[in-house]
Amino acid sequence: MAKNQRHLTMVANWKMHKTGAEATAFLARLRELGAVKAGGCFVVVAAPFPALTAAVEAARGMDVAIAGQNLHWESEGAFTGEVSGAMLAAAGCTHVIVGHSERRHLFGETDEMVHKKVRAALAAGLTPIVCVGETEQQRAENETELILRYQFERAFWGMSAEDLRRCVLAYEPVWAIGTGNTATPAIAEGAHRFLRRCATDIFGAEAAAGFTILYGGSIKPGNLRALLEQPDVDGGLVGGASLDADAFATLVRAGNSN
Ligand code: PEP
Repeated sequence: MAKNQRHLTMVANWKMHKTGAEATAFLARLRELGAVKAGGCFVVVAAPFPALTAAVEAARGMDVAIAGQNLHWESEGAFTGEVSGAMLAAAGCTHVIVGHSERRHLFGETDEMVHKKVRAALAAGLTPIVCVGETEQQRAENETELILRYQFERAFWGMSAEDLRRCVLAYEPVWAIGTGNTATPAIAEGAHRFLRRCATDIFGAEAAAGFTILYGGSIKPGNLRALLEQPDVDGGLVGGASLDADAFATLVRAGNSN
């Protein structure tokens, strides 16, 4: 499947930003700007848990999917502070970010936890947006491919090509997240091509060719187009530049025209 047959996707990751009222105002502004179009790129907004219901309401009638930023792998239980996939789905989410590097590095999330979360998301009918990426030191020590293959294989361990079809992958080099050091288009393409090869090795050429692989790490209106021109870059996962509706609309427009 050629790139133009995969659905180009732009995901806003608000992290720990925005109340329900702020989420409503953002989506109202995005609607007013008219950047989200049927037939354009697929748009997802990942809001903090307390703002999800407001975001779902505000996005009604607009082609914007709402995502959680994390989930627990159990469906319910004595897990103070956690939410399940079923809870996210009941709140109106269709997607959930899994294994973001901030979860891995600040909250000790392991590859085993990421794997259980991917399974839990699928069981709840959600599309997991699974994040992988190497640190600056791992890249300097030429370990990027080793790390990417390991994270990929652990996240999707034991799954079928049909499961993979319901997942999205995000290549997010840790050194590029929130630093302003965006990966060059060549570096991003090299990693995406490698990850697609990992998918081919396990799930076959057809599943890998249809697999959406997003890039994340300091995406800005000025650097997105060159990234999207790469054959294996199928969209973006955007942190900082997604907090302002006008800036995010510019990114969505770039996605629409690619
Ligand atoms: C992210 O949160 O996934 C991210 C890529 O952040 P930023 O765009 O700010 O680097």
